[in-house]
Amino acid sequence: MKFYITTPLYYVNAEPHIGHTYTTVAADCLARFYRMKDYDVFFLTGTDEHGQKIYETAEKEGISPVELTDRVSSIFKEMWKKINISYDRFIRTTEKEHEEVVKKVFKKLLDKGELYKGEYKGFYCVHCESYVNVEEAKNPVCPDCNRPVKEISEPSYFFKLSLYQKQLEELIEKSDIVKPDFRKNEILNFIKKGLIDISVTRKNVVWGIESPTEEKYTIYVWFDALLNYLSGIGYLYDDQTFQKYWPPDVQLIGKDIMRFHYIVWPAIIFALNLPQPKKIFAHGWWISGKEKISKSKGNIISPEYYIKEYGVDPFRFFLLREVPFGLDGEFSEENFKKRYNSDLVNDFGNLLNRSLNLIEKKWNGFLPEDEIDESIINLSEEVYKKYSEKMENLSFSEGIEEIWKLMIYLNKYLDEKAPWREDNENAKKTMVSVFYGIRNLLILLRPFIPETCEKMAEMLGLERKEIDKFENLKVKYTGRIKIGKREIIFYRKK
Ligand SMILES: [Zn+2]
Repeated sequence: MKFYITTPLYYVNAEPHIGHTYTTVAADCLARFYRMKDYDVFFLTGTDEHGQKIYETAEKEGISPVELTDRVSSIFKEMWKKINISYDRFIRTTEKEHEEVVKKVFKKLLDKGELYKGEYKGFYCVHCESYVNVEEAKNPVCPDCNRPVKEISEPSYFFKLSLYQKQLEELIEKSDIVKPDFRKNEILNFIKKGLIDISVTRKNVVWGIESPTEEKYTIYVWFDALLNYLSGIGYLYDDQTFQKYWPPDVQLIGKDIMRFHYIVWPAIIFALNLPQPKKIFAHGWWISGKEKISKSKGNIISPEYYIKEYGVDPFRFFLLREVPFGLDGEFSEENFKKRYNSDLVNDFGNLLNRSLNLIEKKWNGFLPEDEIDESIINLSEEVYKKYSEKMENLSFSEGIEEIWKLMIYLNKYLDEKAPWREDNENAKKTMVSVFYGIRNLLILLRPFIPETCEKMAEMLGLERKEIDKFENLKVKYTGRIKIGKREIIFYRKK
């Protein structure tokens, strides 16, 4: 079984912020989940590097666009390394391979009559890199960003988007491509108002891929960027890889780029006669004080701060635990700290510390020998089943809630059975059962907080590969295990 997952390409006009990080951590968590289910996973992410805006930013900084894109894309890469993003390919739209694919696709669509030459008249917003409809022609501003727009009239190539109206309606009504479900109507209503053909070239933009036409135009940056989902797995140059992974199983996007992904992108796929993506999931935004967090609003939350203050895994955990994926969430340090102290310090860290201390004291660091309590075996199976369903639906926070059923049970079990009492005849059984339960927690939580789970496995005296697959949930330990070096992983924050 294969699993192909993508994030949008991040525009190198800004350095990575909470929005980019959110999408990428979610994609990473799913990629790890499917790898642990033994799927053949391909996880694609990267940077979108063409367009007028990049050109102008570079100019302002007095450097070349190449220097700018090299610098910012490597900042993204460093950030992903820091937070353990396990992508299989980081694609840049300035790579030769990608540029060749974009040209070939353009040519293919041109030859098929899907693209045609026309005249573009209208307004263009440089900031949004898009053609816009303005409400007032006298003092035209962009409806999305409120910046002044330019009036343009120029020859251009168009993609016959209007041709696909019916097909798109049917696709959205009958398939799972639009997720979560509550987005469906919004998209359908937009399509039913009527689609117009879209311009796919720019005459006077220099920083982009040249159109394979008589006139040397530049291919529209959105058209260029969307095709990375094809070029990233070898479309038109590595057929074997492409056949293996196409179509995407999950494509993650922010809700601000839905129209491109639910309308333009599937229409291009129709035009190329390829199977459609199975799911394109639009997640919500983090807000801070009721506003979307963004550079232009100046209310940026720095992932670096939280990583430094609390650690990489608590940051990953908070992003996916705090808010149902798909809805907006309020990001505040107060909420972060609460979640950190209650879930990670109290529930998880304490459970591990108490258990390891006891094994050390009572049995000289060796796991005693006994049988595992049926209740913990059964609960583990039940939790895994439900957790698995939640993860497949991208309900990350609910997936964690399932895991916490086992977490809470184990803490209570340990309290009630009190294996530290001198006269306790069931101490061995209790400890073996709790050890088994904790090991299961490490497997289930690993897609979310990989580094922590690996460290904790070592502390239990297990090897990394023993928590590598969900298959390992079946493995039961008793006796012979010598626990590793103990350390405190989560410190309470005031
Ligand atoms: Zn704009």
